[in-house]
Amino acid sequence: MANKISRFFTPFVIASLSLGAAGFAATHLLAEQYQQRLVGEQLQEAANKANLQLDSEIAKFKQVPAILSHDPRTLGYFSEQTSAQQLNLLLEEWANQSLADTIYIHDDSGTVIASSNYQDPKTFVGENFAFRPYFSQAINGLSSQYVGLGARSNVRGYFLSSPLYVKQEIVGVLTVKVSLENIEEILTSDGFDIVVLDNNQVVFLSSQPHWLYHSLQPLTLIQQQQIAEQRQYGLDKITLIDDFLDLPQADNALPSEKLSRMGAFNIYPAAASSQQYQVVALKGRDTEMKKVMQIDVIFLVIYSLVLLIAWSWRQTYKAKVALTTLNHKLEETVNKRTLYLQQSNQQLQQTIHQYQESQSKLKQTEQELTQTAKLAVLGELSASINHEINQPLAALRTYSENSLKLLEMGRHDMVKGNLEKMLALNLSITDIIARLKVFTRKVTKQENHTANLHQAVNNATGILSALLIKHGITLRMTPISDDIQIAIHPTELEQVLVNLIHNAAQALHQQPSPQIGLDWRLESEACVLDIWDNGVGLPESKLPQLFDPFFTTKPEGLGLGLSISKRIIEAYHGTITATRREPCGMVFSLRIPLHNACNNTSSTD
Ligand code: ADP
Repeated sequence: MANKISRFFTPFVIASLSLGAAGFAATHLLAEQYQQRLVGEQLQEAANKANLQLDSEIAKFKQVPAILSHDPRTLGYFSEQTSAQQLNLLLEEWANQSLADTIYIHDDSGTVIASSNYQDPKTFVGENFAFRPYFSQAINGLSSQYVGLGARSNVRGYFLSSPLYVKQEIVGVLTVKVSLENIEEILTSDGFDIVVLDNNQVVFLSSQPHWLYHSLQPLTLIQQQQIAEQRQYGLDKITLIDDFLDLPQADNALPSEKLSRMGAFNIYPAAASSQQYQVVALKGRDTEMKKVMQIDVIFLVIYSLVLLIAWSWRQTYKAKVALTTLNHKLEETVNKRTLYLQQSNQQLQQTIHQYQESQSKLKQTEQELTQTAKLAVLGELSASINHEINQPLAALRTYSENSLKLLEMGRHDMVKGNLEKMLALNLSITDIIARLKVFTRKVTKQENHTANLHQAVNNATGILSALLIKHGITLRMTPISDDIQIAIHPTELEQVLVNLIHNAAQALHQQPSPQIGLDWRLESEACVLDIWDNGVGLPESKLPQLFDPFFTTKPEGLGLGLSISKRIIEAYHGTITATRREPCGMVFSLRIPLHNACNNTSSTD
């Protein structure tokens, strides 16, 4: 499990998460700041607009107390020229004309002596408002403005008062009360809460009724006492607005920064235009936070998409890299294999070369061995050759000695006869030597040779005649016509015949009536020659090895004669086979193609 988790947190995932977290935080912060600025601007606009409306409403009445306080009919009351009733009527008329809620006049003790609402059951006439600051200030010569809940009427009002002078002496106070109930409707603004605070931060106008007569910040004891004494809102104690109870408390002042930091609300106070009140626009942070959250969600969706694209791009890139690596490996493997194949090829070529060299050496050795075999046969034959050549040589010597003596005796005719005999003997020796040449010639395969069968058999038997005579062997031959031409080199045919007849002679040792036979016959395109003997023969089991090189049953044999003979015959497209002859001996059959196509072509040796 831990392994899986650690495998999941690859550098890519860690980087993506870190980047995502940083991006999210930055986006959230920027969105929040942007929203705050936007809402701040909207609040500022709303607050200023509400402030202007309120100002313009109140401005209509601002000059009214000053103007009315100089009216002689008002002041006439204090010189007893105007009755209280006349004054009531006058104030009623003025109130109706100016749309003020109530206009009333206090004597110097604060008691209302005349009022526009003199007919109202809750008329101010007779009431004493000395506790109100607007009176206490005006009686001291200052024009005053004040907000508060009507102590008698229970209607919120904006109070404007001016002192009444008679002969430069303050004799009373004229107060204009402007109702704020209608103004509250004007303040209602879409999506915003507008509150108007007095200079103690107590709400006296609000789009939220439950905020009325509550403060934005805790009031000091003196403030609480003042408000209670002035019966400003008809309450003994002003409490905080419930919604702000959980929020960090502001200081005495109400600077915009502190207000706007007040948690759940964005608060913006309008530029203060009056000492008496301050207009503040508020907006819950819910909607703003919702918008910020929307931006957060949009960021997360976009970032996820970007991440998905990056991830898929990375996967593609990784796959590409893996493919390239695989290709490289494959190329390396192919190169290695190619190199290995080239080396193998070179080795093979070397081996072939060595094989060819071995072959040629073998061929050479074979030829040398053939030559050795020939020499071996030659060695064996040397005795009879010696005998054949020695005889004519001895005769030559005798004839030479006789001729010398005959010359001394002047018997020239007899010398001539001797010389002729000597010449004949010389020819006979040359013939014997010529026949031995067969053993000096190397075996080479050649085309287009012709041998005369009659001549070849005669030469072979001639070479061996001494040996045959020596061993008392009878040669039985079917007469051979001298026009049979076969396609083989005559010397090589003679070599094969000498070998076969010599082998037969060796197999006839100690035989009671030794015989060697030579039979022949013509077939469609070949001539078949059988050489047989009535010697010891060979067991059937040995026949398959008979033509193998070095197969021999003789103590001093080489075992090459038959294998060489077979090679010679097969080189001329012929065959050689050996079979047992009944009741004893062996038959060797040669089958050699006839030379019918090139009858006239004879070979020269
Ligand atoms: P080598 O004569 O040196 O032994 P050859 O190849 O000529 O070699 O003969 C192989 C063997 O074949 C001989 O040793 C002999 O045993 C056998 N062989 C050949 N000719 C005859 C034959 N006419 N009768 C019996 N055995 C023969």
